Amino acid sequence: MRVKALETLLSEKGLVDSSAIDTVIELYETKIGPRNGAAVVARAWSDPDYKARLLENGTKAIAELGFEGVQGEDMMVVENTDSVHNVVVCTLCSCYPWPTLGLPPVWYKSAPYRSKVVRDPRGVLSEFGVELPDSVEIRVWDSNAELRYLVLPNRPAGTDDLSEAELAELVTRDSMIGTALVAAPAS
Ligand code: FE
Repeated sequence: MRVKALETLLSEKGLVDSSAIDTVIELYETKIGPRNGAAVVARAWSDPDYKARLLENGTKAIAELGFEGVQGEDMMVVENTDSVHNVVVCTLCSCYPWPTLGLPPVWYKSAPYRSKVVRDPRGVLSEFGVELPDSVEIRVWDSNAELRYLVLPNRPAGTDDLSEAELAELVTRDSMIGTALVAAPAS
């Protein structure tokens, strides 16, 4: 509420342009942040030793690629497999790994997502268009001020010949939150 009040006041005084603010937010939500996380995922898919380090100590391995700082001081990477799917939430507020994913999307901060994903993760995933077989266990991770999570998605089939940069292009923000799968490249 305070932020909204401040933004309204600044807009009314003509000191900020709200469309410019939206542009900056959009940039961090969809471009800068998630591209960092995608680079981490692509490296893990390409380099088994890096992947082992990443799962062992997320913070340290992510910092190897130069991504560190506020809201990413303590990172844990959780790996999706054929039998486990991970989803991240902050039930209390909106804790999110800024250095790897940028700013959280609006739905991540919304009360319906935060409450429903812990009660009915399969239903929420379905709303996102993700249908998983019953044999897949869904694990929900609750972020907090101390610890933030990054999902390491399943590498899609048919990507053996792709370079690390090409792999990174496939990785979406939502796949690293766990509300999407990484799609195979269009042939
Ligand atoms: Fe939070």
